[in-house]
Amino acid sequence: MKRLNMLCSVFLMFVFAGVSAQETEQKEARQEGHTNQNKFRQMYQELATPNQYRTASGAPGPAYYQNEADYKMDIVLDDKNSTITGEETITYHNNSPENLEYLWVQLDQNIRKKDAPALQKDGDGMGPVTTPARFADSYLQEPFDGGFNIKEVSQNGTDLKYTIHQTMMRIDMPQPLKSGESYTFDIKWSYNVNNHVTNRARSGYEFFPEDGNKAYVIAQFFPRMAVYNDVEGWQNYQFWGNGEFALPFGDYEVNITVPADHVMEATGELQNRKDVYTKDMMKRYEQAKKSFDKPVIVRTQEEAVEAEKGFSTKTKTWTYKADMVRDFAFSTSRKFILDMMAVDVMGKDVMAVSLYPKEGNPLWEEWSTEVVASTLKSYSKHTFQYPYHKAVSVHAKNQGMEYPMICWNYGRPDEDGNYSDRTKFGMMSVIIHEVGHNFFPMIVNSDERQWGWMDEGINTFVQYLAEQEFAEAYPEAVAPNSKYPSRRGEPSKIVPYMKGNQDFISPIMSNPEQVHQLGNNAYGKPATALNILRETVMGRELFDYAFSTYSHRWMFKHPTPEDFFRTMEDASSIDLDWFWRGWFYTTDNVDIGIKEVNKYYVTDTPTEAGKEMLKRYGTTPEETKALYVVTEDDAAFDESMKNKSLMENSETLQAYVMDNFSEEERKNLQTPKYFYQVVFEKPGGLVMPLIVEVTYADGTSEKKTYPVQIWRKNDKVVSKVIPSNKEITSITIDPNLETADVDVNNNSWPKKENKNEFDEFKDSAQD
Ligand SMILES: [Zn+2]
Repeated sequence: MKRLNMLCSVFLMFVFAGVSAQETEQKEARQEGHTNQNKFRQMYQELATPNQYRTASGAPGPAYYQNEADYKMDIVLDDKNSTITGEETITYHNNSPENLEYLWVQLDQNIRKKDAPALQKDGDGMGPVTTPARFADSYLQEPFDGGFNIKEVSQNGTDLKYTIHQTMMRIDMPQPLKSGESYTFDIKWSYNVNNHVTNRARSGYEFFPEDGNKAYVIAQFFPRMAVYNDVEGWQNYQFWGNGEFALPFGDYEVNITVPADHVMEATGELQNRKDVYTKDMMKRYEQAKKSFDKPVIVRTQEEAVEAEKGFSTKTKTWTYKADMVRDFAFSTSRKFILDMMAVDVMGKDVMAVSLYPKEGNPLWEEWSTEVVASTLKSYSKHTFQYPYHKAVSVHAKNQGMEYPMICWNYGRPDEDGNYSDRTKFGMMSVIIHEVGHNFFPMIVNSDERQWGWMDEGINTFVQYLAEQEFAEAYPEAVAPNSKYPSRRGEPSKIVPYMKGNQDFISPIMSNPEQVHQLGNNAYGKPATALNILRETVMGRELFDYAFSTYSHRWMFKHPTPEDFFRTMEDASSIDLDWFWRGWFYTTDNVDIGIKEVNKYYVTDTPTEAGKEMLKRYGTTPEETKALYVVTEDDAAFDESMKNKSLMENSETLQAYVMDNFSEEERKNLQTPKYFYQVVFEKPGGLVMPLIVEVTYADGTSEKKTYPVQIWRKNDKVVSKVIPSNKEITSITIDPNLETADVDVNNNSWPKKENKNEFDEFKDSAQD
């Protein structure tokens, strides 16, 4: 006990010094009171209160429910006129404890009605620079004549009353739909399909003038049920274009009629392959099912080129079934080449599939299906085993868009077939990203309309892991001895955004419609935050377990941000409220620096400051066996102290050690000669662990990490004492650039000027 007290007093000197300055200031001015703004306070005010539906642990609660929507559809594509005509029977299952007086159905195509308010939503006028596409959309053409033409809404042949408001349709049922019951009704519609290249959209066709053909990537093509749940009631926030989709799970049976010479891929299991494939295609398909090492071309480029001339007037109907999907999409053209490969995903056979026109070759035939296969393996490892039977990558110009089992991806070689690394890695990255969306939000079914980061940010984070793992699995894809050139995920890549103009930055916890830079807000920053959480804050083991727990808990369910935040804490025992609040609820950034470094010695000679402090505590040097801390500038310092050891400088300490430690214990005592007090300052608003690299005069160095809690009592300045028997020559904060520190000019002692080269930053076309 005695020993402990004495040792403490050495360190208390440093602490007292800090307190006394503060006390003096307090005496001088009467201060305002304040509420608790401590960055480590718990997030009781920000987070929804846990309940029977969603527990405080972040798991679905005992009363958790979700409604379901099953669809039977007949769809006809008129290739010549680019129209889609459809009929659907929806069976809606009300699993909620409430009775529902009406149903809300989403009519996303209505965003392309000529008079859609979404076309007039921006008020930013004529900027100094614009893209040709944006300019053409705004000024050069009449608005496209799109939107659903709803022909009938009925139940058993009797018309139902409905009201359309922009992209939402309310259906009034004769009686409320009781809790636990289902309601079946029919909708008939048609719409004009847009050119997705000139009319930037997630769905549409590309026209190929050389051969007169179109390639279709079709989605949001049918009236879809909105989500009803314990969080939003009906999620009927309008579709304005940026916020994506909120959709319930259901089972689908879909018949799609297209020209007989088309080749199609879609969500779901093809039911009548023999009717729609040629004999050759069937034979190659059977081979592909057994080919685990390379893709098998099921429809060749020669066959596709031959078909381009056909313009068949006959039709074929492709029939698909899909269970537990939250959406349905398809892609069709006579131009398509098709290849497939079997993938062993943790013991389960899945087909990796690619569909592309000849314009995608040779790049697509070389890489697309291999990338799909690698993505399924990586994502399954970090989350759960991929539950569907296939994943399809479709090549569509400028597209990056995801649906269950199928996605659209850019990456087109030049006309002569050459392609740059930029095109190649752009294509690989978008495939990894969009195939990855099968996990988030197609299976872990978050509300994209409200929280873009829950699918885009989490997905971009796993994309980063999958890209690095792809390069390990396919070293020939990257330059020798180099990593995959990931565009997002590395902490340094988010720095230009984080240090940018605050007028154009929003917290991650913002609706996608209301943010200025959606790519950084919903993709880049959350992906980087999660990467930092994994590498620097939690460590891989605890992070990976918690992340996998979240994925499993919410697989085939609808999580909210709270469910994610809570699970990550609950499964790891790491309090992360400070992290969520700082990174997700504010636009603060990381900037931690070294304010000053002082070297101290310890002596028995009382210093003025020491005497002053003892006086304040009602004692004197004579009464106290105190040690005094001096710098080389102090009056009590003399040059001879430099050449003496700690014990030689302080007989008091020497006597103390002799009295209190056995000979055996004394052998193990450390004998630091210097005490370096490092004062850290934090101009940035975010708190982060303090990662410090200390380099000694003998050339060795040592990394020390102080926990983030070091900032819990002082958010601006903290000090640490580094005892050392060697001279320290330099100290660097965050030496490996793992915290996204926005200003590294203050990261070193002695100061050195760091020149930053900012990565060129561009917003993405990925959704
Ligand atoms: Zn995305």
